[in-house]
Order: sequence, then C-alpha cells, then structure tokens
Amino acid sequence: MAAVQNLWAPWRLEYVAGDKPTGCVLCAKQGEDDEAALVVARGEHVFAVLNLYPYNNGHLMVVPFRHVAELEDLTAEESAEAQRMLERGIRAARAAMGPGGFNVGLNLGEAAGAGIASHLHWHLVPRWQGDTNFMPVLADVRVMPQHLNTTWKLLRDAWAHDEEKTTDGM
Ligand SMILES: [Zn+2]
Repeated sequence: MAAVQNLWAPWRLEYVAGDKPTGCVLCAKQGEDDEAALVVARGEHVFAVLNLYPYNNGHLMVVPFRHVAELEDLTAEESAEAQRMLERGIRAARAAMGPGGFNVGLNLGEAAGAGIASHLHWHLVPRWQGDTNFMPVLADVRVMPQHLNTTWKLLRDAWAHDEEKTTDGM
C-alpha cells in the first residue's frame, strides 16, 4: 500500500506515530476492544472488522478466528459462518451507506496480492456508481470522506438493527 495516499486519513498518522504491532494483526484484533479494533461483529468462528487501509468507505474484512492461510483449511462451520457474515455485512452496509454494489473476494497468497497472507480474510468493499471516475485523474490518491470510527459506528448500528429483524442468532 506504499504507493497509495489518503487525502483525509487521520488514522494513518495515528498508525505511523504509534507502536507497530508484532505478530499477526488479525489475531491481535481478536483480543482488543471492539471499538479500538474496529470490530463490527463477532460470530462463533469468524468476525467482521473494518480495514484500516480501506479501498473505499465501509471496506470490511470477514476473518476466521483461527490463524489459517488456505481456504481449504477452513472447517465447514467456518465457511458457512463466513458466508453468512458476508451476507450480513452487505445488508448492514446497504442500510447504513446505500452503496450501489459490492466487490467481494479473497486474495490468497502474496502472489495474489494478499497483504496478510498467513491469515486469510474476505474483503467486502461497498461501491458507488462513479466512485472510480476520478481515480485515473488522481492516480494513487484515494478519497475517504468518512473517518473510520464514524463508519464503524454506522455499520455497527445497522448490523444490530438487522439482527433485531432476523432470528438466525448470529
Ligand atoms: Zn492470525
């Protein structure tokens, strides 16, 4: 992500000035306070957390609690819950931010562009019509209109509201 600059990204300064985490950052988030770690939801086997270096507003990651690198290493229960977490993330983002679409996917291995290759995670990136129109002009500059903590609160509230409407207990 070295080539990417954020126009408005106060969290980057906090990150640069703060202590660097050692070990796996996705494992470390599991032991942190939800708001500090930007964890939006925790399930039985997986959790949903905002990406610190979002490609777009509301960029979520769905992550198994277990430190596994390969998709085929997941148990059936982990896979099933990850799928439901992605669906819930989509519903929460729709309710909170009204995107026109989503990119959902995995980067498996450093060769495929995974930033944290040893702990697999799904990316869920809300998209809006025209959100990339200005990107070629600004090259590697990405615009983040919302602070991550504001986004976290929005998604968290929408997720809780969604939970009240459904009965699947996740
Ligand atoms: Zn890990």
